[in-house]
Amino acid sequence: MQAQYPARFQLVAAMNPCPCGWLGDAGGACRCTPAQVEQYRAKISGPLLDRIDLFVEVPRVPVADLASAFLPARPDGPCTADLAARVAVVRERQQQRSGCLNSQLAGRQLEACACLSPAARSLLTDIFEQLRLTARSWHRVLRVARTIADLDDSDGIEVAHVAEAVQLRRGAPVRSPG
Ligand SMILES: [Zn+2]
Repeated sequence: MQAQYPARFQLVAAMNPCPCGWLGDAGGACRCTPAQVEQYRAKISGPLLDRIDLFVEVPRVPVADLASAFLPARPDGPCTADLAARVAVVRERQQQRSGCLNSQLAGRQLEACACLSPAARSLLTDIFEQLRLTARSWHRVLRVARTIADLDDSDGIEVAHVAEAVQLRRGAPVRSPG
């Protein structure tokens, strides 16, 4: 039996890069074989990964830096309160434009407010063909690119916005989920 309930949620998940957890660390402590890493990562199904918009690698924080881990990376960088204010402005911008947040935009409504520049559209098309990304990915990348453009105060989606959105999808499956 299958039941459907209304739900709107944001999934934030974390996993180690390999079975021992040290892959990619500058210390070079990882002894996992490529096959072990592949087997470990294959535990998460392609269709599930395909529904995750942003993949971010988080390097280990040296113990000496832990005390300052929550301060801006640069003394002149934005603090959390500044970033929260920026996000509030961008959310308001999205509401004004489409009556909802970008995350809730689908299909035609998303295409209508995407405003891809010709160069950005051609880059996105090339990348999709080269990486054999799934059809589902197209709208997910477009939605993220729209948000990056909003953060950049840009009405249109330009090449740099598409490039950043695609970069954030590294780790997503590249073959069709069937
Ligand atoms: Zn390892």
